[in-house]
Amino acid sequence: MVEIKVAKTSGFCWGVKRAIDISLETARGKSEPTYTLGPLIHNPQLITLLESNKIHAIDDIGRIEGGQIIIRTHGITPQKRKEIKSKGFSIKDATCPLVARVQGLIKKYSKKGYPIVIIGDENHAEVKGLKGFAETPVHVIESSMGVAGLPEYEKVFVAAQTTCDVVTYAEAVGKLKNKYNSVEVGDTVCDATSDRQSEAIKLAAEVDVMVVVGGRNSANTARLASIAKKCGTKTFHVETDEDLNLFQLSGSKTIGVTAGASTPNWMIDRVVEKLKTLSRPQSFLYLYDSLRFIVKSNIYIAFAGTVFAISNMKLMGMEKIAPISVIVFCAILSTYLLNQLLRNPETLKMSKSRRYRYHLKHRVLFWSMGLMSAGIGFIISMTYGVMVPLLFFCVVFFGSTYHFNLWRGKRILRITQLMDIPASKDFFVALAWVIVTVVIPYLAAEAATGYVIPLIFTLGVAYIRTVLYDIRDIGGDQIIGKEAISVIVGKEKTTYSLYAVMVFLSIFLISAFLAGKAEISIIGMLVGLAYLLWFSFYGIKKEWRFSTKFELFLDTHFFIVGFLVYFLIAISS
Ligand code: SF4
Repeated sequence: MVEIKVAKTSGFCWGVKRAIDISLETARGKSEPTYTLGPLIHNPQLITLLESNKIHAIDDIGRIEGGQIIIRTHGITPQKRKEIKSKGFSIKDATCPLVARVQGLIKKYSKKGYPIVIIGDENHAEVKGLKGFAETPVHVIESSMGVAGLPEYEKVFVAAQTTCDVVTYAEAVGKLKNKYNSVEVGDTVCDATSDRQSEAIKLAAEVDVMVVVGGRNSANTARLASIAKKCGTKTFHVETDEDLNLFQLSGSKTIGVTAGASTPNWMIDRVVEKLKTLSRPQSFLYLYDSLRFIVKSNIYIAFAGTVFAISNMKLMGMEKIAPISVIVFCAILSTYLLNQLLRNPETLKMSKSRRYRYHLKHRVLFWSMGLMSAGIGFIISMTYGVMVPLLFFCVVFFGSTYHFNLWRGKRILRITQLMDIPASKDFFVALAWVIVTVVIPYLAAEAATGYVIPLIFTLGVAYIRTVLYDIRDIGGDQIIGKEAISVIVGKEKTTYSLYAVMVFLSIFLISAFLAGKAEISIIGMLVGLAYLLWFSFYGIKKEWRFSTKFELFLDTHFFIVGFLVYFLIAISS
């Protein structure tokens, strides 16, 4: 049994909470755009949330025209503030009051003629901002090591970056006092930081392993990780639960969890949830990691889709199904893989950062798998005349380049990429499923019959599947554009459309059976619909909607339909 100890101080500090509240309030109901000068906080998942509320992070005001500028917790220099105002932007100040206090102290002592020494990271936005308040010489050193290189002065004022490590600050102040006759010391490490750091030190001494949760660019999170490491405790810095490698943690009896001031609580909860699985047997960890790879690499959906296509082929009375099944498998695998690999990394980072990182990690392997399956599928399809390879090519090409800029940035009918066409995602995905699992097998078969039922059923379930993904990803889609129906008509109406399609398909199948146009195998399809209905209630609402389980359970419906239809056809013939 693994004991997990979570630091009481982990999660958002009040300064970050305040900045988020100010930003959301500023953007609410405004027609003009809202920008933050730099990311509001160093947490990709929260940046996604802000983007969905139309709050965009920019590096410089040079490229924008008009709007409201929010100053983040780190603050800015007085010169930058003047520049923003002179360009006509309205400013909303979310500088943390504790940072503003340090700015005030630097200004005050500088006016009194004190040269300023700041202990912190010279490249950090807060330190850049602080420097702007000094009218006397200002020096930034990272630690006591930098004291020797400072010029000789009679007196200095020393301040710490608010997220500075308290021990480093104390050491540097000690050395400064040895060097200069008069040293005025600002007590500027914020409580939120010092409390977190003290608790991290205490926790690191009690546990076998420390897990520090938070953005990699977050200074205070990185500092917590380095403090825990300095205590001699094995430490892992993770942005989300996806970064956790359970194998590296297996064998630990006690695990400490802490998080930076910009880490939301729900992210800490997810990490803790995942850590709890360590109490399960070792074989479970292998199973979990293998399953995740199979799902994330799209092998699972390719297999599920192939089993489903085989049942369609059986419904169409086909006998030779092996080579066509390979074509189907290759088409699904290559299209999904290449589509994900060819997405704009910036957009993906913002909207689906976890999936993006997984693909980034296995980039070479996934590219090889995607290109190989596209090549193998195309070569086999060429043995079936002209139409089969042509359709195979179209599905893989347009499916892969769906998010790609088609005409090199030019807009034709306001469209630069296929995803700009409203609701295109739901339409194209359903169409591609029909082509791959019904039309290609039908064209490749020597004597196929009865394609109407597989065609309508596939169109319906492919739509249901895509819409279920849309409902889950609605936050991300709102950022990317109007590619999904759920973004245009809203989550509620999209959910109703889902049930309408389910009802239509059920009535259609039962009517076809009663009219003698369908066999008993339709029971397999009806069971598949019942499973999707269950999933639409349970899967969307359960907390695993953001985990691999969502994809695993949703795509299992293709296996259910495929195996049941195949089995029912086999026993009835
Ligand atoms: S860490 Fe401290 S200084 Fe920084 S935003 Fe939070 S409360 Fe303010």
